[in-house]
Amino acid sequence: MVISLYFHFPFCTRKCPYCHFYVIPNRDQDSFVKALLKEWDLRLLQIEGKKIESLYFGGGTPTLCIEGVKKILQRAQAPEITVETNPEDATPELMKTLYDLGVNRVSIGVQSLNNTLLKHLGRSHTAQKAIDAVNITHKAGIKNITIDLMYEIPHQTFQLWKETVDIAVELPITHLSLYNLTIEPHTAFKKKEDDLRPHLPNEETATQMLQYACKRFEEAKLHRYEISAFARDGNVSIHNTGYWTGREFLGYGPSAFSYYEGKRFQNVCHLNRYIKKLEQGTFPVDFEEKLPFPASLHEKIAIGLRLTKGIPLDNIPHNTQTLLRNLDQEGWISYQNNHATLTDYGRLFYDTVAEKIIDE
Ligand code: SF4
Repeated sequence: MVISLYFHFPFCTRKCPYCHFYVIPNRDQDSFVKALLKEWDLRLLQIEGKKIESLYFGGGTPTLCIEGVKKILQRAQAPEITVETNPEDATPELMKTLYDLGVNRVSIGVQSLNNTLLKHLGRSHTAQKAIDAVNITHKAGIKNITIDLMYEIPHQTFQLWKETVDIAVELPITHLSLYNLTIEPHTAFKKKEDDLRPHLPNEETATQMLQYACKRFEEAKLHRYEISAFARDGNVSIHNTGYWTGREFLGYGPSAFSYYEGKRFQNVCHLNRYIKKLEQGTFPVDFEEKLPFPASLHEKIAIGLRLTKGIPLDNIPHNTQTLLRNLDQEGWISYQNNHATLTDYGRLFYDTVAEKIIDE
């Protein structure tokens, strides 16, 4: 049995206006780390006898709390250990520390390589700083580097996007995650949505941006293996592949999600409540659900279709296969070699496809 572990470090120096993660100013680190280790102890039985495939330190900005990363790595190691960071934090000293701790993958929140757009996104780094961060990480010996890029940003033109993509593919990265900006509830962008909307690229430009990026990435040997993920030389994310293939994972830290023994649960989204629960020796879980059959299967299919290789049809009951084919009046899914995969058209409308499958 295999499992992946995720650790949510909620600290950021400031909150980006589009961010919808549970993030707080950088304080109370000691009590957070203590609580995290208590959660580690509490969950030991859940990981006993299981092979840990990946450890992922996300947030927030885990590199603001290196002590916490260190303490967990003294307790566990895995074939893939990823730590997220921001370009402004990526110093040679930090990267050496991570390397010495056994971290073999770094995820850098680049988002854009245009200074004006970075300002619009409320990011504290420049394009040059982001480029330097990738090079510093590479030089420190961590060769598996992934970056996040974002399109559909207010005031972003196709030309500006093209420039970012063209620079990004030349960087010594092995992986890239591509997102379109979405204006989420409870964010600063949501509050000024009416002002932002007129400056967002229209649908046609957004599609053009996505198509250009996919083409350019492919030329640069960054192969699309999932809707929003691209990998060079087979460096797919072991951790994220687990999410798409239904591998069990445990999430530690406030707001972290888990999927374990068919159940999904989430920790409380509040540092003090998280700490308190652990001080009382109880699991810091806020919400738990177990999807009944066949809803669980439909969700698994919808998520599995995110992968370029699609899903094998062998294990899918015949009536569900018929249902899938009947749903698909638009040519979203293709059936070959006993696999169902999204067509290019289906990928463009993935959210609609997924919704239809899940709602069935
Ligand atoms: S750095 Fe990342 S986690 Fe922190 S506020 Fe910005 S988007 Fe959110």
